[in-house]
Amino acid sequence: MEELKINGIIYDGVSIKVFRLEEEHKVLVRFTDEITAYSKIKQASIKDKGFYCNGISSMISEKLQKEGVPTQYVRKVSDTEQICEELELIPIEFIVRNVIAGSMSKRLGIKEGTVPSQTIYDLCYKSDSLYDPLINDTQAIGLGLIKEDELVQIYEYLRKINGILNPMFESIGIRLVDYKLEFGKKTDGNIVLADDITPDTARFWDIASGQSLDKDRFRRDSGMVGQAYATVYERLKTIILKD
Ligand code: C5P
Repeated sequence: MEELKINGIIYDGVSIKVFRLEEEHKVLVRFTDEITAYSKIKQASIKDKGFYCNGISSMISEKLQKEGVPTQYVRKVSDTEQICEELELIPIEFIVRNVIAGSMSKRLGIKEGTVPSQTIYDLCYKSDSLYDPLINDTQAIGLGLIKEDELVQIYEYLRKINGILNPMFESIGIRLVDYKLEFGKKTDGNIVLADDITPDTARFWDIASGQSLDKDRFRRDSGMVGQAYATVYERLKTIILKD
């Protein structure tokens, strides 16, 4: 394992911890085995979840970078850690929905599994105390969370990312139902994809069985959470190794 000089903690989350590194503008992201749901009302430890999430996130970031999407990911440095660029995060969560599920299904009374006529992009204001409320584009710009040209650029990235990930997951028998993305600015002002895409932040449905291979197994007490994360990891590995 690489010798890294940690210089303080930036984000002390339950599933993820982010440390400042002595190397300028670089952070160390560590994935833990802890899992939470419903604003931390539910919490548990899932053996090797940190390993699977780090692996899945690294493989997806490497694929996106190869296809020309700038991301904060630099390199994987251990089973549960990766180095990323330090960013100034934009306080918006972007949810990409290829299939209606979860909160959208509940809020609008639409059956889970309904396929919309076009991909849906939701914006949520990042605020734990307000439970990340849904906002629209004019609110995001008007309230100064993002500039209009930045939002236009992020929409381009969202379409590009979805155009890469959708067929990639389909090729390993997984329906990419929905997922959350975040973006941030590097010190040079350029916007790049931040955060991680894992079964903690995305819904993956096994195409053959319709079973969830993500955090819904924990949210809904379906069991076999670790096995679901392992399945996504193992299937992704088969195509990434071929690439
Ligand atoms: O909550 P909802 O059902 O709208 O979530 C849509 C997608 O975004 C899911 O894959 C969920 O895991 C992810 N998400 C997330 N973090 C949030 C909200 C949603 O990762 N704060």
